[in-house]
Amino acid sequence: MRDWLRGEPTLIVRGHGATLIDAHGREYLDANSSIWTNLHGHRHPQINAAIRRQLGKISHSSALGLANEPASLLAEKLVRAANPPRLPRQPALAKVFFSDDGSTAMEVALKLAYEFARRSGRSSRPRFLSLAGAYHGDTVGAVSLGHIALFHRAYGGLLFKSEKVMSPYCYRCPFNRAKPERADARDYRRCNWECVGKVEQKFARAAKTKTPITALVVEPLMQGAAGMIPQPRSWLRRVAEITRGHGAQIIADEVMTGFGRTSVDNASPDGLFACHHEGVQPDFLALAKGLTGGYLPMAATLTTQAVFDAFLGDYSEFKTFFHGHSFTGNQLGAAAALANMQILTTPASICARRALEKTLRQELESLWTLENVGDIRQVGLIAGIELVKNWRTRAPFELRERVGIRVCDAMARRGVLTRPIGNVIVLMPPYCTTTRQIKQMVDALREAVCEVLENK
Ligand code: PMP
Repeated sequence: MRDWLRGEPTLIVRGHGATLIDAHGREYLDANSSIWTNLHGHRHPQINAAIRRQLGKISHSSALGLANEPASLLAEKLVRAANPPRLPRQPALAKVFFSDDGSTAMEVALKLAYEFARRSGRSSRPRFLSLAGAYHGDTVGAVSLGHIALFHRAYGGLLFKSEKVMSPYCYRCPFNRAKPERADARDYRRCNWECVGKVEQKFARAAKTKTPITALVVEPLMQGAAGMIPQPRSWLRRVAEITRGHGAQIIADEVMTGFGRTSVDNASPDGLFACHHEGVQPDFLALAKGLTGGYLPMAATLTTQAVFDAFLGDYSEFKTFFHGHSFTGNQLGAAAALANMQILTTPASICARRALEKTLRQELESLWTLENVGDIRQVGLIAGIELVKNWRTRAPFELRERVGIRVCDAMARRGVLTRPIGNVIVLMPPYCTTTRQIKQMVDALREAVCEVLENK
């Protein structure tokens, strides 16, 4: 905060497409899609029109005891999108609970899973397992599921205990026996799935106690705030099988990965959710950020009919899910989300995403020649570039050296805005980003690394 107070803030006043414009009229590329929210660009005519149309009717009426049109239509659309035809015999995600943001979407999943486990007799003391480095939001329940010490340790006294298991951070895997050579760094998963074994061990040990694990909480395919850490192909499918084998549920946090962020699946081009790319259907699916195309704060937690039914009863049984926010099912948000979903499933959007993913991959290739680029991790339209002291040793920079921040500052001077996660630079372009703009983002990153780390 002291650093923020010292400088002049970049004050954004306008935007269009992948571009943001500040109060001085300077233009920047929105290289992290306004903290991973924006999908189709700023001021998209279709989303703007949908919000305007809704403004002409009503902006908000409470969803506590009342229904409204756009939220109902959106729920139907989400259920359809969340149940593609090719998935295994897992109960459908049939019900939608709206809330405000990623943290509340996760909070809702957590509370539903907790109470479902108790009411269904699965566990009297539900226990949750999440991944090392996990981040699921900033509310107290979501923080309890997280495992980023820097963010979370101050609030330890407020939290409930959740279990932690090794995540597949291949680049820094303790079991990784690949030689630290650059070619290997790109193909580093040469292992016996020790990290999957760790998950199995966790479940097996807990099964021997009075409190088996109730649910696995996971960001599918890519852990975001952990540092853009991808899971190798089939990790999720294997871990889901273990979880199911132990009778536990799966909570998928697709707050970052949802809505086409993690690539276009050839078999199912309109597949919008990361866990479906691995053939996994969770019991809870938390969505936010991109739900409204990044225009308005709105979130949704999808779950099964069985979970829904556990909260049905006579009034006097008080089985209600006692959770509801003032802006739940907000009409403007729902109208934006409906427009977003419509755009996402058009052939033009699917084609553009596929092309953009390829362009990003090609452009990022050029960064491998830099001494300080240790790893380039891309899943669909999410990329994390891990900066290190030297790629041969993979030695990390100390956090206090602020390397990620300095590199992002240097990128901003070149007209590209993003935020680092420690020493990892995030590139997550809006889906409307052009080839030229992708080049500009990657060029700015390359030049910034050279400027800050003085290796030309
Ligand atoms: N889950 C994940 C995977 C996230 O990336 C985030 C936000 N970065 C959240 C939850 C929390 O979302 P919000 O900031 O909207 O509360």
